Amino acid sequence: MAHAVNVQRMSTMLLKTLRDDPADAETASHKLLVRAGYVRRTSAGIWSWLPLGKKVLDNVSRIVREEMDAIGAQEVLLPALLPREAYETSGRWDEYGDLLFRLKDRKGADYLLGPTHEEIFTLTVKDQCTSYKDLPVIVYQIQTKYRDEARPRSGVLRGREFQMKDSYSFDTTDEGLAESYRLHREAYTRIFERLGLDYRIVSAVSGAMGGSASEEFLAPAAAGEDTFVDCPACDYAANTEAVTFHAEPGEDAAAHGPVEELDTPDTPTIETLAAHLGVPASATLKNLLVTVDGEITAVGVPGNREVDLGKLSEHLAPATVELVTAEDFANRPDLVRGYVGPQGMAGKALRYIADPRVAPGTAWITGANKADTHARNVVCGRDFQVDEYLDVVVVQPGDPCPACGAGIALDRAIEIGHIFQLGRKYADAFELDVLGQQGKPVRVTMGSYGIGVSRAVAALAEQTHDEAGLCWPREVAPADVHIVAAGKALQNELALELAERLGAMGVRVLVDDRAGVSPGVKFTDAELIGIPAILVVGRGAANGVVELKDRRTNEREELPIDEAVARLN
Ligand code: ATP
Ligand code: MG
Ligand code: MG
Ligand code: MG
Repeated sequence: MAHAVNVQRMSTMLLKTLRDDPADAETASHKLLVRAGYVRRTSAGIWSWLPLGKKVLDNVSRIVREEMDAIGAQEVLLPALLPREAYETSGRWDEYGDLLFRLKDRKGADYLLGPTHEEIFTLTVKDQCTSYKDLPVIVYQIQTKYRDEARPRSGVLRGREFQMKDSYSFDTTDEGLAESYRLHREAYTRIFERLGLDYRIVSAVSGAMGGSASEEFLAPAAAGEDTFVDCPACDYAANTEAVTFHAEPGEDAAAHGPVEELDTPDTPTIETLAAHLGVPASATLKNLLVTVDGEITAVGVPGNREVDLGKLSEHLAPATVELVTAEDFANRPDLVRGYVGPQGMAGKALRYIADPRVAPGTAWITGANKADTHARNVVCGRDFQVDEYLDVVVVQPGDPCPACGAGIALDRAIEIGHIFQLGRKYADAFELDVLGQQGKPVRVTMGSYGIGVSRAVAALAEQTHDEAGLCWPREVAPADVHIVAAGKALQNELALELAERLGAMGVRVLVDDRAGVSPGVKFTDAELIGIPAILVVGRGAANGVVELKDRRTNEREELPIDEAVARLN
């Protein structure tokens, strides 16, 4: 049986399992996907998908594709290598900063590797659609994306090259956009349910995409890099990035009285500031903003001394220090709302500094991103640049829920999907109009919707693994059954026969027919690889009996071969 249908033979497969975790791996998915031979690190944040991994990735893509097709979305494939001009028009050639992979062709023309494709989809639809009758339209692709992430870590969870399903909706009315958004929200719900992921839908900020309504699909997991506010008493859930406070945008800051100013011809120190505020130097303030001559210089919480004002003054003294306390902050709509999660200020503050809204050329301060550590001696202008006010508000477990007032909980999660009502941002930039019913041009309104296809594989591994290894839900597993030939030539022969029989019935089989590998090693590998059913062809096979084991529950049963086959069908 050289190439039996639906059968993969371990004896000839490009697969090598490892006993030890890779040295740099911190998360379970990273360790297990490498050890079980699903992926191979090619360079930092760049991964190769080996046969088992490719099968899982394809299964995720298939589910995504089926559900996108079911809402009438049309699949296309746009290039990953894109000309600079379109991103110049949208402003993102600069906005994206260091996140963008840029390159030149032989003539010196600038290109980029697409981090997301709003620009090119807008141009494509501008080309293809001329009348309101051509809309609404939803287009999508499943494609490789490139982002030069500051900290590519956790294996395929955060790659610098990764697979994304991105779709874009085009409507002539706001109601149309709302409907396209609703269709996506429902499709995403079906996708993540079919994938077997535990997920929450939370309010999100729209970040660099611009636009208004936006929600994220978060998969709760300790390895996640997002923190979300989860109300145990009502259905309020929001990414901490989206938690807003009471100041209304556009409110006149001056109406709330001047922000405190402190003239310090001498070196401003924490003690000076504390004395000025009338608090002990050890106090933890909710937030603090320091500006020098109107320029923001630092954000921090003096009690924790994230900002060493002594250091600051070395570079910027003499200084006028502006203090913004929690109360002031509420009345300063000009300040960008930030958030400090349980991982401490450093991670989040630095995350904001890496936010694409912030000037290009921003630097990460390495070594300051461990949980519960704080960035010290960080000086804006020297260590990083900001071109907007930043501020930080501390939200802690037990703080009142913005919707019902009950004490909130904070949880970690992986962002697996993100849906946006973009509005007319890109349509304006590219002058995307169609001829309306009245014969006049109508500006199109857009939505943009992403799913991390490769990230979903890692998120599933995070949520479903156990101490023995991976443990896939059947629909995404690389096979339906893992047949272990545990014995001599007879067992091997029977295992291969059984594999062929099941394969012909449409059951996807991985068969461990490796010669010279002990049953013990084969069992360990079967648990590590994580196919949902394990069929052991052992001593009983000569009498027509095999053992069927459930990978997740560990339940095992001795069964006549025909019954085992019937169970697997
Ligand atoms: P993150 O907050 O994790 O950096 P993002 O908000 O920058 O993600 P989006 O621009 O919303 O990501 O992209 C859509 C989806 O693509 C995300 O919801 C996520 O599932 C996936 N994704 C984004 N960046 C990566 C990455 N570096 N590696 C793998 N998947 C990613
Ligand atoms: Mg990102
Ligand atoms: Mg995000
Ligand atoms: Mg996002």
